Amino acid sequence: MQALVLYPNAQFRLEEVSEPKIGENPYSPNDTILEIKYCGICGSDLHYWRHRDKVEGPKKPSIMGHEISAVVKEVGSNVKDFRPGDRVVGEIVTFFCGECVNCKEGRINICCNIPVKEQRVHYTTGGGFAKYAAWPAYSLHKLPDNIGDKEAVLVETTAGCVHSLIERANLKAGESVLILGSGARGLILLQVAKAAGAWPIIVAGTDFDAERRLPLAKELGADAIVNVNKEDLVNVVREYTRGWGADVVMEAAGTAEAILLGYKSARPGGRIVVSGGGIVGGINVTLDTYDLIAKELTILGEISHVWRSWETAIKLVSTGKVNLKPLVSHVFPLAEWEKAFDIAINCKKALRVALKL
Ligand SMILES: [Zn+2]
Ligand SMILES: [Zn+2]
Repeated sequence: MQALVLYPNAQFRLEEVSEPKIGENPYSPNDTILEIKYCGICGSDLHYWRHRDKVEGPKKPSIMGHEISAVVKEVGSNVKDFRPGDRVVGEIVTFFCGECVNCKEGRINICCNIPVKEQRVHYTTGGGFAKYAAWPAYSLHKLPDNIGDKEAVLVETTAGCVHSLIERANLKAGESVLILGSGARGLILLQVAKAAGAWPIIVAGTDFDAERRLPLAKELGADAIVNVNKEDLVNVVREYTRGWGADVVMEAAGTAEAILLGYKSARPGGRIVVSGGGIVGGINVTLDTYDLIAKELTILGEISHVWRSWETAIKLVSTGKVNLKPLVSHVFPLAEWEKAFDIAINCKKALRVALKL
């Protein structure tokens, strides 16, 4: 089969690889072979491609792609809950020790004993930028009939948004939320916050987002949209929050400026979840700790998701509280991956770009 492989020198290559086989992968006998329908292109994939001359790739050549929508093709001898033909999405944390304090508490995404990349399917057994992938049954979730194959690529991102807002920031109904970044993740954070009863919800973007993404945020229910290149975000947030600042700030932009803006926009006692810099291996920011101390701010990290995040995400999409359809903006066949990556980075109308397998 053809697969899009990322090399240790951070170069992508579309090449012929052998298909995964049931019983011949590390998940056996709890393994499944999935036929991938679509796979979304995440910011982390784009990061490698955009900075391919400057960054390091994975330790070994890896089939990337972790936003899958798939059908079960075959199941291992120990698999009871899935059968061929089931439509599924898959968690990306497929390796965890099961014995450390975090695993025992269900926080397998931050297992103490296995390094981050060695936990994740696309750096180990291979992801969804190929027709077939091996996946453990314990990491799969069934898709209800009313979630389409194409939109399902964003269930992974939705699970991440649920994890950030509900499980990490502990968002409560009636709280104000500022979302920094209006890409697919920002627009899903918006809808999850709305479903949780947050008000008001302010979505911020830049000039790049002004044409398509910010107006779409408004359509999807944002109470205010702000172009930070044209407006003073801190002032707008104050106007909407009686001068106090936002209860919860979600940083999904991946820049130092966004983190600092979030820091200034949070109310005393507010919570800030930092996400966007993860895909670039972290960002260096100089923070004045006086604000942290005197405002008793809480700064939270987040990575991936846990089982509950996926179950909640699927319910939110299935009941129409999160609408993913307008967010998958472009689809290309695997062979046109370069064009797909280019559009995902440079097109102002692009939100999530997916590859069709
Ligand atoms: Zn991702
Ligand atoms: Zn563990």
